[in-house]
Amino acid sequence: MSAPTARYLSLGAGVQSSTVLLLAAQGRIPTFDAAVFADTGWEPDAVYRHLDRLATIADRAGIPLVRVSAGNIRADALDPAHRFASMPLFTLGPAGERGMARRQCTGEYKIKPIKAEVRRRLGYPHPRRVPAGVVAEMAIGISVDEIHRARDADVAYMRNTFPLLNLGWRRGDCIAYLAEHGLGATPRSACVGCPYHTDAEWARLRSDSPTQWADAVAFDHAIRHGSARANAAGQPLRGQFFVHRQRIPLDEVRLRPRPADAHTPGCGPWTCPHPEVEPHAQPAVSGSPMREVA
Ligand code: SF4
Repeated sequence: MSAPTARYLSLGAGVQSSTVLLLAAQGRIPTFDAAVFADTGWEPDAVYRHLDRLATIADRAGIPLVRVSAGNIRADALDPAHRFASMPLFTLGPAGERGMARRQCTGEYKIKPIKAEVRRRLGYPHPRRVPAGVVAEMAIGISVDEIHRARDADVAYMRNTFPLLNLGWRRGDCIAYLAEHGLGATPRSACVGCPYHTDAEWARLRSDSPTQWADAVAFDHAIRHGSARANAAGQPLRGQFFVHRQRIPLDEVRLRPRPADAHTPGCGPWTCPHPEVEPHAQPAVSGSPMREVA
């Protein structure tokens, strides 16, 4: 196995990856050449504030915190000139069929820009071929209680590593460690209007961030009849999109937060807890991979 050319951290900015960054900054694990955060442009304000704190910590430790982006997921979905990288929206077909749109957003807005940055830093930006033997380690914040999410990289120029698994740390260990070092308020990282939010998360958004709640409500209305691009192309959605699983407008949902959902994992580039297509979901509309049909 070739020695890695560089070591990077995939910084989702949630509990686990923030812990890995702090461990490296404190010299408890080997350092990184960079910590890479993929910004969808629609994270809650609390996540951006947290990132600023992490940037200060990383900077003091000589670890560049790099923000990469493939665009603004919210603006792009509503832009007729932009390809719609499908979000896992809930669908309701014309005859009341219930389904979900395929999730393409994590790959498009998180994994793709991180891979592009790794290639660029290795000196082989797309479309140049990365020679055999040029490999970057990519540390991913997965704790022991999430071990089932640990996967090998799907490209030869990256080798995934899991520092928290090596330490045997669980999510609770990470939370305690962050709290000990003044990062006890590490927020959950996920787009403001992510359809994977539980009712506990929607309720928190509504009470703690009314402006961002209003933004999610407005998005929910705006996406009802499909992406702007599909509509501009004369291919309106046969059915409707919703951000809430009840498949009614977000501001009409009677939220029922369950204590068990208070600490669900966020959306890390390689640690999304949800499959690309929910196994229980029936396609509400059929045809294209995005399930938008004319
Ligand atoms: S948080 Fe949700 S909407 Fe945002 S990239 Fe992840 S799955 Fe997609």
